[in-house]
Amino acid sequence: MFPLRKRCVVCASTEVSRALLPGCGTLWTYTVQRFMPPSPPYAACTPETFSEFGVGYVELDGVVRVESRLFGDPETFYIGMELKLVTLDLGGESQYAFAPLDAVGLS
Ligand SMILES: [Zn+2]
Repeated sequence: MFPLRKRCVVCASTEVSRALLPGCGTLWTYTVQRFMPPSPPYAACTPETFSEFGVGYVELDGVVRVESRLFGDPETFYIGMELKLVTLDLGGESQYAFAPLDAVGLS
């Protein structure tokens, strides 16, 4: 599960263990969220502040694929592009995302 969760989303078990994943990967596939999702975890935006964003599967180490929000202009995304893990501040709420390697001002 990415990001880390305290319990399994499939069976609700709390017997989860932590695994370190690389902070960079390649875009395996993606789509663009063009309308505001109706419920959390997207509560940080309103119809006035919403702007479309990418959501994709990022392949790490060529084996593990994680689903993640993508940062950047969706028109510039392409399958196979190299991405890095960043943290976005969405109205005071932190969220993990993957951004192009050359994205600036993100950590
Ligand atoms: Zn489980």
